[in-house]
Amino acid sequence: MRIYDIIKSKRDGNSLSQAEIEYFVKAYTDGEIKDYQASALLMAIFLNGFDKSETIHLTKAMMHSGDVVDLSAISGTKVDKHSTGGVGDTTTMVLAPLVASVGVPIAKMSGRGLGHTGGTIDKLESIPGFHVELSSERFADNVNRYGIAVIGQSKNIAPADKKLYALRDVTATVESIALIASSIMSKKLAAGSNGIVLDVKTGSGAFIKDVDGSIDLAKAMVDIGNGMQRQTIGVITDMSQPLGFAIGNALEVIEAIETLKGNGPQDLTELCLTLGAHMAVIGGAATDFDSAKQLLIDNIANGKALAKFAEFVAAQDGDAAVLDDYTLLPTAQHVYQVKASKSGYIKSFKSEQVGVCAMLLGAGRRDMSSPIDLSAGILLAAKIGDKIEKDAVLATLYSNDQSSLTEVAQQLQAAIEIVEQPCQAPLLIKAIVKHDDIIKYD
Ligand code: URA
Ligand code: CA
Repeated sequence: MRIYDIIKSKRDGNSLSQAEIEYFVKAYTDGEIKDYQASALLMAIFLNGFDKSETIHLTKAMMHSGDVVDLSAISGTKVDKHSTGGVGDTTTMVLAPLVASVGVPIAKMSGRGLGHTGGTIDKLESIPGFHVELSSERFADNVNRYGIAVIGQSKNIAPADKKLYALRDVTATVESIALIASSIMSKKLAAGSNGIVLDVKTGSGAFIKDVDGSIDLAKAMVDIGNGMQRQTIGVITDMSQPLGFAIGNALEVIEAIETLKGNGPQDLTELCLTLGAHMAVIGGAATDFDSAKQLLIDNIANGKALAKFAEFVAAQDGDAAVLDDYTLLPTAQHVYQVKASKSGYIKSFKSEQVGVCAMLLGAGRRDMSSPIDLSAGILLAAKIGDKIEKDAVLATLYSNDQSSLTEVAQQLQAAIEIVEQPCQAPLLIKAIVKHDDIIKYD
């Protein structure tokens, strides 16, 4: 087989065979195919598309390019969740204990942050003592014993995707539905769960900014998951503004705990109940969405979800006293209030810009080698639709780097649009994608 012929075939609009796709993925991962030929093929795929079976073959080949996790030592139906990016997305820290509290085992691998803020793993590490590196034995043992464990992603999950994603990033071939879907699903499938709930973000802070494009992406991922015998559901959710009020690692830990106590922001709470109810149904804890959602609401009200979080933190060597004493978390030396420049209503957020502001305060990595300031971040005081008076607090900045505060405050003000006319809060859940069913709410 020659890579030249594969490039030419895709350039001319043909479908590639399973053997051709497997050859490409293996030979590129092994370094036998050079970046320039892989780039040409990626661009041909980007322009001419990949059909359903080509997309599944690519996903499978990337999934099997590294370790495929075997969760069979853990009893029960394991259900995973994946969110496609987002700003200030606190969901995993709430969802994992919430869903575990109704008896669905959570055996989750999470990532560190590459973008504006930390990933779930960085956030959890702001809890004193918390360990994210567990042996496979301890990981399985914790899930069997407590119903929950969250660990950092092992280095050898889908190495082919890692290499191809990096190449796509520099060749303008990221925004292809087939390539995004296979990239995400190769990693989720390698992580070994029986079912997958996908939280596909849409709006200014998301990868794909329009609802229909996000539905197409969800459909492609649901087809791959179901095609691989994993029950998969896609939920299209609003990311036209940051989720909840907190953006930043320790700040989001507090937000997650407050949500488990029943005092969380309305949008974050609703999103966790929706994603969690789908997970609970797939995991067999309830027969339908409404009764699953009620179980989750009950477990927030009766304290079981919070108790599960405490158990989870202690099981991974963290100090569960943080649940009642937030001063045990890293705290920033400098606090700065950003004021509204005029009276009116919040109309929109440039969410990516808000994420960049959090990063500049120290909450995210500028590059892979830069450290994270776990105490840094932003606490918003208002969301889309809220009324605000001139000089009222719009947001509070937290940082250990005083020099960044005034510039970030200006950038944040510029990222939040205030208008005179009242405006509506966005609908949070935009669509649900299951098998061939697409329910659109907007
Ligand atoms: N996230 C991924 O993991 N892969 C993509 O291609 C896009 C987003
Ligand atoms: Ca948040």
